[in-house]
Amino acid sequence: MKENKKLQYKTICVHSGGYVDEKTLGAVTPVYPSTSYAYLDMDIQQYPRAFNTPNQRVLADKIAALEHGEQALVFSSGMAAITSAFLALLGPGDHAVFQKGLYGGTTGLLTEDMNNFGREFTFTKGIQPEDFEKEIKPNTKFLYIETPSNPILNITDIKAIVELAKSRGLLTIIDNTFATPINQQSMDIGVDVVIHSATKYFGGHSDIIAGAVVADKNIIEKIRSMAHNLGGSLNAMDCYLLERSMKTLALRVEQQSANAMKIAEFLSVHNKVQRVYYPGLKDHTGHNTARKQMRGFGAMLSFELKDGMDPIKFQKSLEIFLPSMSLGGVESLICSPAMTSHSSLTPEQREKEGVKDTLLRLSAGIEDVEDLIADLNKNLK
Ligand SMILES: *Cc1c(COP(=O)(O)O)cnc(C)c1O
Repeated sequence: MKENKKLQYKTICVHSGGYVDEKTLGAVTPVYPSTSYAYLDMDIQQYPRAFNTPNQRVLADKIAALEHGEQALVFSSGMAAITSAFLALLGPGDHAVFQKGLYGGTTGLLTEDMNNFGREFTFTKGIQPEDFEKEIKPNTKFLYIETPSNPILNITDIKAIVELAKSRGLLTIIDNTFATPINQQSMDIGVDVVIHSATKYFGGHSDIIAGAVVADKNIIEKIRSMAHNLGGSLNAMDCYLLERSMKTLALRVEQQSANAMKIAEFLSVHNKVQRVYYPGLKDHTGHNTARKQMRGFGAMLSFELKDGMDPIKFQKSLEIFLPSMSLGGVESLICSPAMTSHSSLTPEQREKEGVKDTLLRLSAGIEDVEDLIADLNKNLK
């Protein structure tokens, strides 16, 4: 397993991790589906649920290298990663502060289950450092952020949150699913724990469910020990598929981000579009912060149709964009947050989150952007 932390990110995508089979010197990692490994005279006792089989370790090494972290663990879903990290880093009676407007699954875990596990939490009322500071209590252990956030791509100032956390002796955890390490390397800014739904950009082909956590050795050891008991490790076949996918992560995300920028520019001057949310646009509230902390502005954008446009009819009329949930795949997707991720909220709650019924979220794929724009243009009427 190679250690390549000084390399640039595209090279890391291809070469970090990786396992050379000495017998054949094949170019790719062999798949080791075994759930039973010899233990006599071995350094470690390998078992898939212990996160230590060859396919799990090479993939974890690649992800850790990409995020500029020490170590990583790979999980069977993003939520398995999140649950394991929360329960490991928050003991019974401990408290954590969570940014408002998180991914729906994370919000569900907190509001439905965390109190039953004896863990306390508070959601912030805004995304400024003061909003986090207000909620810190004597038993607070970490601050949790998600930037850019779903669905209106709010940008949290990572450096400001890290400084606040450090001044209070707290950890900072980020869900970096939307940005990916190609666009945002938050560990360089001082974030302690990076979480991913690898189901999205890491997998990138809408056919793998997986998750990951990156942190230093001590934190990873705590999470590994909890996760070993909870279960939720990833099987060898999916580890292999994900390792394969990640070799093209940088190419895909750069193309997707460039496409998103062009689509955002096109929509922002269209007379059937009320408003566009994309951190790459100068009028986005988080644009200046995004410029500071992101390499590219990501491949997710949202926009509101003008009154009189029917969001369902519009989605059905598209030929290339698939009206479909999830995100991050090579194919461009469109969905209505009011009908999907935010459907359990009341219209008033949605309004407060900035999620109108006319809001549509795009996940830009890798297609030719001219075709994507033509598809939108033809049907915006
Ligand atoms: C999808 C997603 C998750 C959850 O990941 P799963 O792989 O679906 O379990 C967490 N955070 C964000 C930002 C996501 O988009």
